[in-house]
Amino acid sequence: MNASWPTNPIDRIEPGPPVTTADLVAAAIGYAAAGIAVLPLHTPGADGACSCRAGKACGSPGKHPRVRRGLHDASRQPEAIRAWWARWPHANIGLITGTVLDVCDIDTSSGLHIVLDLLDVIRPPGPLIRTGSGWHLWYAASDLASRVTIAPGVDWRGRGGLVVAPPSLHHSGTRYTFQQPWQHADLPVCPPQLRALILPAPPPVSAPAVPIADLDRYVQAALDGEADRVRRAPRPVISGGRRISGGGRNDALNRAAFRLGQLAAYTPMDEAAVRRELTEAALSAGLSRAEIQRTLSSGWRAGLRHPRRLDTRQNAVARRVRKVPVQTWPGPHS
Ligand SMILES: [Zn+2]
Repeated sequence: MNASWPTNPIDRIEPGPPVTTADLVAAAIGYAAAGIAVLPLHTPGADGACSCRAGKACGSPGKHPRVRRGLHDASRQPEAIRAWWARWPHANIGLITGTVLDVCDIDTSSGLHIVLDLLDVIRPPGPLIRTGSGWHLWYAASDLASRVTIAPGVDWRGRGGLVVAPPSLHHSGTRYTFQQPWQHADLPVCPPQLRALILPAPPPVSAPAVPIADLDRYVQAALDGEADRVRRAPRPVISGGRRISGGGRNDALNRAAFRLGQLAAYTPMDEAAVRRELTEAALSAGLSRAEIQRTLSSGWRAGLRHPRRLDTRQNAVARRVRKVPVQTWPGPHS
């Protein structure tokens, strides 16, 4: 654990009160009432061994179905749920993804920081679950299929997927707990930056090579996210011929160029492709070409001088804790 890391409560694991069969049944029925099909899963024992026949040799302790037909047996019927937990009073709760719920399944701290960086948030919106070793971010079903390794340490559970739900027991001995609650209200929609990671990579183009295709999917998603922010940046407000607020377009562009320049210091990136996409976004936001070129160049150069590695947790934590980027972004040109 990094020394500065425990200051961020997102990492905290609470032991929580003991969980009874009644708690498991109530939770399972609650999920079913929200339209999510439920399954009884195996349970890890005190030694971490799975309740299945494989025991200690199980590769997925406490995470796979107890029922014979697996995902096909999932149910939203309270009677079925009660019968399962009468038979297996400690069964973990499995939820079928892809119909009501999709889950961004993060296994590592660096995976979490990739996702938070991508979404540009300190905490994700919506329900957040601490698993024994990672996090689950809940989203409304996106109609995207499940996909493993959308980024290092990050999987997507969509159509055809299964997740373990609170208050199930993890083989590490901790319970799956909501760090941000699920209130049965609408789940957040899968953000476009994440969606870009989940979608299968486009088939290779044989026509003239498009430089942007050289960027890996993560970088492309980061670029799309930044370009989108530039497009949506507030325009200046003019009233009675006077500018009463400056707007945020140049600032957004500067910040986008800075952040992508930071990545470019470690990741092979095509500067021309980045400039093209950001220029297009900034033009559509109403900035002038001259202004755009100045801001892009200075933001990109400043980013290169403040490199950012994609996968080091320390960098991400340090930046968050010290709030460095806001203070070190060079100001937009006047
Ligand atoms: Zn097992």
